[in-house]
Amino acid sequence: MIKLYNTLTRKKQIFKPIKAKNAGMYTCGPTVYWHAHLGNLRTFIFEDILRRSLKYNGYKINQVMNITDIDDKIIKKAGAENKPISVVTKLYTKFFLNDIKKLNIEKAEAYPKATTHIKEMVAMIKILLQKKIAYKGEDGSIYFNISKFKNYGKLSGLKNREIKIGARIAADEYKKEDAQDFVLWKSKRPDEPSWPAPFGPGRPGWHIECSAMSKKYLGKTFDIHAGGVDLIFPHHENEIAQSEAANAKKFANYWIHGEHLLINNDKMSKSLKNIFTLRDIEEKGFNPLSYRYLVLTAHYRSKLNFTWESLQASQNALNNLSEFLKTKTDKHQKTNENKNIKIYEKKFLEAVNDDLNTPKAIALVWQIIKDNKLSNAAKKQLILNFDKVLGLNLNKIKPAKIQKIPLKIKQMADERELLRRNKQFIPADLLRKKIEQLGYTIEDTNYGHKITPARN
Ligand code: AMP
Ligand code: ZN
Repeated sequence: MIKLYNTLTRKKQIFKPIKAKNAGMYTCGPTVYWHAHLGNLRTFIFEDILRRSLKYNGYKINQVMNITDIDDKIIKKAGAENKPISVVTKLYTKFFLNDIKKLNIEKAEAYPKATTHIKEMVAMIKILLQKKIAYKGEDGSIYFNISKFKNYGKLSGLKNREIKIGARIAADEYKKEDAQDFVLWKSKRPDEPSWPAPFGPGRPGWHIECSAMSKKYLGKTFDIHAGGVDLIFPHHENEIAQSEAANAKKFANYWIHGEHLLINNDKMSKSLKNIFTLRDIEEKGFNPLSYRYLVLTAHYRSKLNFTWESLQASQNALNNLSEFLKTKTDKHQKTNENKNIKIYEKKFLEAVNDDLNTPKAIALVWQIIKDNKLSNAAKKQLILNFDKVLGLNLNKIKPAKIQKIPLKIKQMADERELLRRNKQFIPADLLRKKIEQLGYTIEDTNYGHKITPARN
């Protein structure tokens, strides 16, 4: 019995699938116009833990993750780089799939792309127009009328917030506190890609993508919908409105949301320019799985503040685990060993099934290593079995050596920072050049400089 916190009911509930021993899962995927940052990846790791935990409980998984390959940000990026949109989206889809592989995230059963599911989106918008829940604005775009859907706000508890009936917004992203009629279909604009539709040529809004694709791959009602907390409103609220209004059926039974990754106590996000990617941590010599370990040390519903020190501690822990698994296996059984193995197995399952308590599960691993009532062979067997959920790839992992930045380089970088702060840009630039000649690059972020060994 696995218990999960359902945002819809605001309580932990025993997971009851629609079809016995099967779990249908829809997880909102990346918008492919840049690299996924560590915050995005935290959410994808949490969803992987959810998937693996269900599998560990004997469920067969059908997970669908959409790839948003058309939206305002993508169009802007392709325009700025003077490249076709598909070149940009293909490149970043490749990076995304590569990143999740490095994090040992299991592949979803399907990764449908928005641009190859326009037909399904058009069909759904047509139903909403027929039911007079959607309407055409003066600009030719199609909007969802939130006053026509009486349950609007049930996921986010929006009833207490301001709902601006009849106020429209055409952008993909808008002010979070107000609910407004949202766009389903953006009418054709010059120099933008568009698709034909009975209600006029244009391109889909972001929310309709998930409603149409989940219906196609998982049916009108499915078990689990997951994502980061920032998606609760407006994205998931709008998905519910579109799907339930069009299908006249409940949309998803369990809504599971992961908390944010923070940096210096701000949300890690591209707009705040405070992001790091998997490439950044790899360039510093960390194994990407050290980041996975770090994510597991916090519960998915708690905020996690990223620091290099905590990543270093996670890498050390991972190194120690891999060292332990390489020690010689003594097969000498201890008294009551089978009983003790069972106790640990039970405790582990309890932790996982209590709303995916990974910090507790990780703590158990260390308890096992220290337990002298277990033989070395039993310890290894237990840990490798738990790794089916943790996904740290412990039977394959090699300890990583962190590339230390030499003290001299650090001092030069600090000196340069000081010069910059005093607006002495010329000597600061000279120092940067010197650092580069010594084989390191320096990048200025909102949170100070970042030094990395230059790539060959
Ligand atoms: P996006 O590519 O922006 O659509 O985001 C992909 C996923 O990453 C969504 O589920 C977001 O909720 C999630 N996400 C974005 N920023 C963060 C963050 N700082 N911490 C955790 N998850 C995030
Ligand atoms: Zn979505």
